[in-house]
Amino acid sequence: MRALDGKVAIITGASSGIGYAAAKLFAQEGARLVLGARSKDRLEALVAEITGANGSATAIAGDVRDEDYAIELVETALGRFGGLDVGFNNAGIIGEMVDVQHMTAEAWQDTLDTNLTGAFFGAKHQIPAMIDRGAGSVIFTSSFVGHAIGFAGMASYSASKAGLVGMTKSLAVEHGRNGIRVNSLLPGGTATPMVGDFSNDPSAGDAIAEFHALKRMAQPREIAQAALFLASEAASFVTGSAMVADGGNSVTKI
Ligand code: NAD
Repeated sequence: MRALDGKVAIITGASSGIGYAAAKLFAQEGARLVLGARSKDRLEALVAEITGANGSATAIAGDVRDEDYAIELVETALGRFGGLDVGFNNAGIIGEMVDVQHMTAEAWQDTLDTNLTGAFFGAKHQIPAMIDRGAGSVIFTSSFVGHAIGFAGMASYSASKAGLVGMTKSLAVEHGRNGIRVNSLLPGGTATPMVGDFSNDPSAGDAIAEFHALKRMAQPREIAQAALFLASEAASFVTGSAMVADGGNSVTKI
């Protein structure tokens, strides 16, 4: 028996990085997947890869800032796979990195709309489908930024990611009685396109690695493994948590 046999999961931000690794891992573990992100081409390539390896997945490109997109993802899970068990609300952006006195209201709002309101839309429409099922797992990708560490120029990102932890606690209490678990996952620095490859400035990569106890960044699959735990029955008594998978950056002072 695999960890997600018989389960149906939505993963947003599946075209890249952590979401991409989670899609492949969840499929290997038996989940039937509805994948979301902005790039149709990348999603279609991922669906082909998963189905080519005997997995089951479909994809819809869209924008998590649009509530109708959240509805469409859930309706696809219900129509195509007959229900929904897991919502991995993972899509996110860093947003414009500037000191607060230079941050426009539009840039602030865009980061909040994508990272926080997008996840709210996801949960809002996933949870009723899970209530029908009598169980479910909602996961938000938060961050070590805004939790363990503050970075200059990242006020909007930090606020959005800390907001997810607050929303997690409310929703866990609101829907525990329905058998639904709600958790935030807080990755440490992870080698994805969001962070870049540091080819122009290897010392910047070294500096990020240094503030982790493990003295390296995570690979996306390592974060996907933590998401798999939260999605699966292995985490059957875990709810309302802000679970770190941060390579020890929250306990490191350099
Ligand atoms: P990434 O840039 O590789 O992937 C981001 C994904 O989100 C892409 O699939 C993109 O299409 C999607 N996305 C962004 N805006 C969207 C929108 N408006 N509508 C739909 N999809 C949208 O980045 P990643 O590092 O894999 O990030 C995944 C999550 O992990 C993000 O929420 C990020 O904040 C969080 N995170 C990343 C790190 C890190 O170091 N990489 C650390 C902590 C948390």
